[in-house]
Amino acid sequence: MKNIGCHVSNKGYVSMYKDTIYVGGNTFQFFTRNPRGGSSKEIDLEDINKFNQLKKEANFAPLIAHAPYTLNPASSDERVREFALKVFKEDLALLELIDDVYYNFHPGSHVGQGEEKGIELIAEILNMVITPKQKTMVLLETMAGKGSEIGHTFIQLKKIIDKVVYQDKIGVCLDTCHVFDGGYNIKDNLEEVLKEFDDIIGLDKLKAIHLNDSKNELGSRKDRHEKLGLGNLSIEAIRKIINHPKLKDLSFVLETPNELDGYKEEIRMLKEMSE
Ligand code: FE
Ligand code: FE
Ligand code: ZN
Repeated sequence: MKNIGCHVSNKGYVSMYKDTIYVGGNTFQFFTRNPRGGSSKEIDLEDINKFNQLKKEANFAPLIAHAPYTLNPASSDERVREFALKVFKEDLALLELIDDVYYNFHPGSHVGQGEEKGIELIAEILNMVITPKQKTMVLLETMAGKGSEIGHTFIQLKKIIDKVVYQDKIGVCLDTCHVFDGGYNIKDNLEEVLKEFDDIIGLDKLKAIHLNDSKNELGSRKDRHEKLGLGNLSIEAIRKIINHPKLKDLSFVLETPNELDGYKEEIRMLKEMSE
């Protein structure tokens, strides 16, 4: 593991940079806007430019911008899909101002329309917003499979990716809590799970890791994050994940239930465990 950071609350870019330095990281994740609502702040160019400069000097790894949870491009309600389209467009325009950042989102829930329809709607919206010249790569997050969530199997993610026109603009962010809750045994069979990912999607599409332990059992389809080592994944599994040759150069971001001091401690521990 070379690149580590945590989810930080968005109080401006320079402020998030400072939080990341405080916890000992060289990358971070942030919400582009209110995660539960959707309103965005006014763009502060001075803050963004200063931030780009600071993180360049500090040699930061690629960041992750997280779309709001309320986004559902697979909804049956046209207004909900239109909201998703608007958010995507605005966020991607904003992210063009920031260097080296991925745009991560939860693919969506098909709410009874069926998986195939949901996949179609997700790909449709992606093809409406992704342009060949944008700098930002969009990442589909692996999901736990709560309710009618799409993206809890590698095949579902592959089906979305296959429908995207600009292939170099789409990738995957693997959430360790989600895949475990989704039934992939990264605790005992990391190698097999990665092989399955590679066979179905291709490991070249994997760009980032959300590093979380899980409060629930393998295959629970629950999605409750836990602090590293306190959940069902165990510290041994975390050690294997961060040191795996196919993963160790990616951006790792913690989404464990912590404040900055807790993240700082986890990052210290991870650096110690890093081979
Ligand atoms: Fe997420
Ligand atoms: Fe996540
Ligand atoms: Zn989650």
